[in-house]
Amino acid sequence: MSETRIIDASDPAAQNKVVQEAVDLLEVGELVALPTETVYGLAADALNPDAVAKVFAVKERPEFDPLIVHVGSFEQVDEVAEVPDDIKEVVAKLMKAHWPGPLTLVLPKKDCVPDIVTSGLPSVAVRMSGHPVMKAVVRALGRPVAAPSANRFGRISPTSASAVEKELSGRIPAIVDGGACREGLESTIIRPEAGEKRPVLHILRAGPVTKEMLQRFGKIERPKRNRASEVPEAPGQLASHYAPVTPLRLLRDFSDFKPEEGKKYGLLSYCGAEKAGFIDGYDWAHVEQLSPGNGKLAEAAVRFFYVLRALDESGVDEIIAEPVSETGLGVAIMDKLRRASVR
Ligand code: AMP
Ligand code: MG
Repeated sequence: MSETRIIDASDPAAQNKVVQEAVDLLEVGELVALPTETVYGLAADALNPDAVAKVFAVKERPEFDPLIVHVGSFEQVDEVAEVPDDIKEVVAKLMKAHWPGPLTLVLPKKDCVPDIVTSGLPSVAVRMSGHPVMKAVVRALGRPVAAPSANRFGRISPTSASAVEKELSGRIPAIVDGGACREGLESTIIRPEAGEKRPVLHILRAGPVTKEMLQRFGKIERPKRNRASEVPEAPGQLASHYAPVTPLRLLRDFSDFKPEEGKKYGLLSYCGAEKAGFIDGYDWAHVEQLSPGNGKLAEAAVRFFYVLRALDESGVDEIIAEPVSETGLGVAIMDKLRRASVR
């Protein structure tokens, strides 16, 4: 593969043409990076194992890490998944409330889904994106689309077309540029299960749909926190992930910061506020703020991967990250910071 074409999707009048170009690639078993509301996805026809194999090759993703499958309608879920009777009701409620949107459901899979998509698991992870381009492409293709984040494995997820270019330029035929991603963090992944009184929702990955938003649908089960030595609770949710090339350290307490002579440190600050953070504690070589001034978690989520990338490219020797409050979206951000700090 030589050149990666950037297809501009900013003109709504040209959307049909853009969608058709993406569909043309998917139909011949090729890959295309597409915008979603969470992060950019690397799309392939989910029912074509050769196309899906290319996703693993391009991302250098280990085959034990299964892919999320995007559908274009509620009905298309039944093409790829067998929803058991005892969770039909809760699944329907969750889809109605959060689809299209950043919520992925793990359900028993149907035979037509190739093993390479699910890493041989008997389940498949399904989602419906709310991004107009992704939605339109899946609908126009008329088949489910496998689309993991459009970055190389373990690296920072891309929230803009230029970030995808940095990750995958020369490896894929095209990137559709649909602007910056609205949510900025990967989808929440849950596995619904029948419970004694209420359904049980196992949160496999924290994301934009928070525990607080899911509580009304059932009893929430959160997996134990990952440690490097533990088997991941969800396949692919590895202890080390989302890692910048530059070492990153999540520091709870600024008094634990003992700078080494001659080393350049960058700060990943939450809101930059004097009282709350580390910003005035040291002469940082580079500072990036997740939510400049006001400390809003939603803003921090949108900016998270962008800011991480900026720090990674700033030439510092180590990135020091402040913690954010671990409620709502902060759970997903802290989860990513922990994984980014594991080497
Ligand atoms: P992404 O890289 O954002 O596409 O997310 C893929 C993640 O979804 C994987 O790393 C898994 O953790 C999770 N996943 C996909 N399929 C399944 C499945 N069948 N069961 C449990 N988790 C899954
Ligand atoms: Mg990913």
